[in-house]
Amino acid sequence: PIRPREELDAVDSVCPYCGVGCALTYYVDRERGAIAFAEGRDQPGSQSRLCVKGRYGWDYAASPQRLTVPLIRKDSSYPKGALSADVRGDTDNDRGRAGAGGNRSGGGRGNKLSKNGRDGRRKPGGLVDYDEVLPHFREATWEEALDLIARRLMEIHAEQGPGAIAGFGSAKCSNEEAYLFQKLIRAGFGTNNVDHCTRLCHASSVAALFEGVGSGAVSTTYGDVANADVVIITGSNPTANHPVASSFFKQARRRGTKIIYVDPRANTVAEHADYHCQVKPGTDVAFYNAIMHEVIRLGLIDMEFIKARVSGFEELVRTVNDYPPERAAQITGVDADLIREVARVWGEADAGVIYWGMGISQHTTGTDNARCLIAMCSITGNVGRPGTGLHPLRGQNNVQGASDAGLIPMFYPDYQGVDLDATRRRFEEAWGTELDPDRGLTVTEIIGSVLKPGGVRGMYMLGENPFLSDPNINKVRKALSQLDFLVVQDIFLTETAEFADVILPASSYLEKDGSYTNTDRRVQLGRKVMDPPGQARVDWEIIQDIARRIGLNWSYASPSEVFDEMVELMPSYKNLRHDNLGLSGKLYPNEDPEHSDGAVVLFDDRFNTDDGLAHLVPAQWLPAKELPDAEYPLVLNTGRLLEHWHTGSMTRRSYALDSISPVAEVYMHPKDAADRGLSHGQVVRVRSRRGAIELQVRISHREQLGNCFIPFHFREAAANLLTIDEIDPYGKIPEFKFCAVQVEATSVE
Ligand code: SF4
Repeated sequence: PIRPREELDAVDSVCPYCGVGCALTYYVDRERGAIAFAEGRDQPGSQSRLCVKGRYGWDYAASPQRLTVPLIRKDSSYPKGALSADVRGDTDNDRGRAGAGGNRSGGGRGNKLSKNGRDGRRKPGGLVDYDEVLPHFREATWEEALDLIARRLMEIHAEQGPGAIAGFGSAKCSNEEAYLFQKLIRAGFGTNNVDHCTRLCHASSVAALFEGVGSGAVSTTYGDVANADVVIITGSNPTANHPVASSFFKQARRRGTKIIYVDPRANTVAEHADYHCQVKPGTDVAFYNAIMHEVIRLGLIDMEFIKARVSGFEELVRTVNDYPPERAAQITGVDADLIREVARVWGEADAGVIYWGMGISQHTTGTDNARCLIAMCSITGNVGRPGTGLHPLRGQNNVQGASDAGLIPMFYPDYQGVDLDATRRRFEEAWGTELDPDRGLTVTEIIGSVLKPGGVRGMYMLGENPFLSDPNINKVRKALSQLDFLVVQDIFLTETAEFADVILPASSYLEKDGSYTNTDRRVQLGRKVMDPPGQARVDWEIIQDIARRIGLNWSYASPSEVFDEMVELMPSYKNLRHDNLGLSGKLYPNEDPEHSDGAVVLFDDRFNTDDGLAHLVPAQWLPAKELPDAEYPLVLNTGRLLEHWHTGSMTRRSYALDSISPVAEVYMHPKDAADRGLSHGQVVRVRSRRGAIELQVRISHREQLGNCFIPFHFREAAANLLTIDEIDPYGKIPEFKFCAVQVEATSVE
């Protein structure tokens, strides 16, 4: 029976999915021990709105597939590479055969958890087969599992040095967990080899922002779009990826803000835009250089702002001189007149703001792309005032916070460089131990390092699933198989957990207190709704137990105590405490959290760089690393769907979300499909130089001719079997948005 609202227990928390971080309230039926429903609540950034994920996507936490007891691999000599055999897609020995390993129905309709996985043990389509994997493990006590982890990681540390250890944290964890995790790897194992999925998300944006304006965070909020005359939304599909932020954009347009949408795909936001510049993938630098060329030619720059607050303008002018609209039109495919018109609209606006997504960052030129956006705002004086600024729309609900907390190999908390002597000494003093003076390896470098002699041998993986999330899965498989010791701490048996030596049952966000920082720099509290299942434990306590076992003298009693320590070391978070965040959270920086929501607009009088100026770094356009050719004639773009989330471990166990979107599909332009004789719903094989997958065709007018799109949520059609592991030289982010593929009909329908 559904109880009336007044009989339910209301718990205020935060949505666990995207970087918008909507505030919500869970109504809990304590008698049933279950959430009855969720409702948005008022907070400046979400104003009681929720998308489908926030409103319905929480039931995964009650899945019978939750890990509830520590597991230890029975036979460490078992060939781990044999696991996940259904996610193989070999190009050499599998050519001509359907989706190797036999999950032939992989992309087929009806292949969904809601139909065949609700008992928790029968094989759920598209998820790890528990019956296949669990026999390789035995149940263990927490004591035994934690002792083994401490012993094996310290053995590797002693025999092969600190550089042989690495940790992947998670943007799904709280700030406090992220902070403790990086502290454990740095202070406990003496290495900076600690990173998380920001490397797959906005690492290149952060590299460019840090270099250009001295801070990796946004300079204004998405709600500030209401004060803008014009907004550029680029490389982003906010309707799917940041739905509530997208509602603010659409609302602003109704009030008169002009929307310029720059994206290779004609996503729904294009229908709300005044201009859609449908650039060819990977041509952003040429496009924005041409816009700046025109803005300068028309005299629409803000010379006063440039003289007072910008360095590198002359060199930028020399570079963009080479990009007249006619040349850019040839590279980008956007009509030269449209480029001129958009440049005029941007240049004439009193207040302009840019929001961008992974279509900008996930390229080997991702940092250059973001450098262009910084220059676009700087030369027109569009920073530091209401309705102006730079905003990379962060992907996960705590990717901003996890980065702030130091879960990156080159920075301690608050982006303080590990290679700066004075900074390191300060952290050594605070943490009471000597620290590694060298930058550590990134996510992408760690995977490569495992495959090299003298590389990483032992890993601690907290809530990450690189087997599905990282590019070129077959390379990741090889790396995970070759590790001497792998610990996975997660709430489900993920694809990566199949390779683990020890699996620790962790807690979902519903089962713990902690703070999360959204894309706006809003620090909010997530509050415990229910207990973890079985013997599962909250993550910060697990990390602390491992720390104690390797000799660290930690005695944190609560997440708020951890937060207080963080704030001591993080000037940006100054003045914040759990007990002054309130129900709506607070933006940082914040001089007076008791009375103020915090700073919406940054850089009103100076940038965070040493000299206080914005540093422009001009970029020349470079093509993507793997261009289409006769054998692989289409460009593959990967990304997310509204209803799903990353590697699907959460949303594919959510009844509502997986019911709405149960099937992996490749989105194709009607002519590309017709040229290959393909019809809507037909099963096809998509092949790159690295692997092949089978899935259904979705004929979509949103795709550009010569391009296709595959969401990366589906194990049974794992898009990252196809993607290329080439990386941006600065942000070290992979080129998820561009590789060459072929699409052909399979013999099996
Ligand atoms: Fe959650 Fe993002 Fe949807 Fe808000 S917009 S409900 S944070 S997924």
